[in-house]
Parts: sequence; structure tokens; C-alpha cells
Amino acid sequence: MKKNLLLKTFAALFLLLATTAADAADAPRQLLALEKYTVPVGVPGAVVGRFTTEAAVTLADDPSGLFEIVNNELKLRKKAVVTASSPMLFEIGVACGDAQKRFTIVKDEFIRNKVVAHRGAWKGYGYHQNSRHSLRKAIELGCEASEFDVWLTKDKYIALNHDYEYDGMIVELSKLADMRRVILEQGEVMATLDEYLDIIRGQNRTRLVLELKSTPANKIGLELADAAVAMVHEMGAQAWVDYISFDYEVLKRVRALDPTAHIAYLGAVVPMDQQKIEGMSGIDYHFSQFDNMPRLYDRARMLGLTINVWTVDDPKIMERMIDMGVDFITTDEPAMLLEMIEKRNER
Ligand code: MG
Repeated sequence: MKKNLLLKTFAALFLLLATTAADAADAPRQLLALEKYTVPVGVPGAVVGRFTTEAAVTLADDPSGLFEIVNNELKLRKKAVVTASSPMLFEIGVACGDAQKRFTIVKDEFIRNKVVAHRGAWKGYGYHQNSRHSLRKAIELGCEASEFDVWLTKDKYIALNHDYEYDGMIVELSKLADMRRVILEQGEVMATLDEYLDIIRGQNRTRLVLELKSTPANKIGLELADAAVAMVHEMGAQAWVDYISFDYEVLKRVRALDPTAHIAYLGAVVPMDQQKIEGMSGIDYHFSQFDNMPRLYDRARMLGLTINVWTVDDPKIMERMIDMGVDFITTDEPAMLLEMIEKRNER
């Protein structure tokens, strides 16, 4: 009996050491991040946020002359203020040890109306889902955010598509150029993440909800997460991008890479307390979950998690979700939901 216990203890210890070693080899390098990437309008000396490092960060480049870093906190200088007529974006360069990094700080004029266009605003406009047209339409309508799905292609591009398959080609096993030979509605071709980030950076009203997708059998979910987060940082698009996925391991990877990104899990398999402990920012559940679990809303609120619901296309359910007080409603009918919210605000 004792021998058995000893063996078990050794086995557990070995397993622990083995996993720790594997984790260490696998551990992604945390990127330098800011608590927040927006600056409010009309607040002299406003604080943007702290850098996520204990090492000293200094301001290396600030063409606007508006910012300073005090004790690793980025803020406007004492009397400096961002006004309605200020530029939309401010590019700054910072130094931390030998490393340099550029950040884009955005004048905060982001819309807060809960409306998230599901795969962009495509329905009824003749646009393809997850296309550049559908994103531009979501921006034009004035949605708070536009949701989209990305996959890693065989040649390591981050490409937009809802399904694992695209016109008979498996996205993860195909080259971007081959998939781009397919002409979509309005003469478009399959979009890529950098193209989406370029469009979103052209304005400061609508944000993005980036859904990371991968086929578990192909085992490239973590590689996709690494590539997507790296691109968002390289293009200075942190202010615009939230991350979601059904793959919890992928979301944990995003958290390991970026300590301040807004991350929400789409599934209902992992308990909410665990999600909170493991650094998730919000839940993103199918609306029926709130009927199945009446205390879901209160528990999420108690844990300080944001609440997004999908995919709400029925006006009655839209009303119910607004009444409940959720933060975001993902819908294929953004124009309908916008009109409903506008009417309710007039009351
Ligand atoms: Mg999606």
C-alpha cells in the first residue's frame, strides 16, 4: 500500500516536472502592453494607462508633444488636452531597456451602443460575410463593433472566413493566392487581417471583435493566436481589437501574450469562475444560455465580466437582452438593432 503511494507520488512529481519543462519551452513571450490605448476628449492631463512592466519605460518619440510617462504611466502633460479638433490618432515611441516599441493612442470617440455586427453588416446589402465591404458598412451604420472570423492559411496568412472550408478549399491547407482567385460579391476577394486592421485604423468610432478559428486536428490554433496578436501589436491596433474564440486554450494563449487585451470565451464548457481566475475579460454566450441559467447574468456581473450575447436577430429577444442590461449584442441585423436602441433612447 505504502509502496503504491510512493510510486504515485513519484509519478505525480515526474509529471509535474515534465509539464513545467514543456510549458517553459512553449511559454510565449509576453508583449509590452498598455492598460488602455485611448485618451478622452476635454480632460487636461488625462491618464491613458500604465505599461505592463516593472522595468522603466521612457518616452522616446512623441511628435504631438502632448504626452509624458511618469512612473510607467502614460498621460497627457499637465495642461495638455485633446479636443474635438485634435487628430484622431497619436503615434508614440517608447523605450524599455534595449527594446523600442511604437504605440497608437486613439482619441476616444468610440460608439457605445452595444451593437456588434456579426461577420460585418452584410445581410440585405449584397455583401459577402467577413468582407471589407461588410466591415465598411458596419462602420457606416455606426455599430459599436464589427465581428469577424480568422484562420491561418497554409502559407501563414491570417485570412477571413467563417467556415473551415472556402469554395471547396480547406482554408488551413490552402494558399491565400489560390483562395483569392475566387471572386466574391461586389468583385471582392477573401480579406486578410492586415487589410481589416488598415480599414479600422481609418476611424475611431467602431471597434473589432476578432474570432480566432482553427481545426483542432491541425493543431495550429496557438500559432494563429501568436500571429494575430503580433500583427495587432505591430500595426498598433490594440485600441480597436477584442478577441473571442470557442477554443479556450487559444484564448489563454492570447492572455499570456497580451496582459491587457479584452478576451471573451464563446463556449459554456469552462466554468465562469475559472474563466475569471484565468484572466478572461468577459463572457460571450448564446442568448439561450440566459434562459437555461437564470443566475448567469448576476454571476457574470459579480465576477466583473463583460457580457456579449450572440446571435440575436429576433426583435423580441433583442428587447429582452437590452432590458437585461448586457454589454454587447451580436446580430446579423445591426440596422434593426440600432434603430431599436435609438428609439428606446428617445423615450
Ligand atoms: Mg464568428
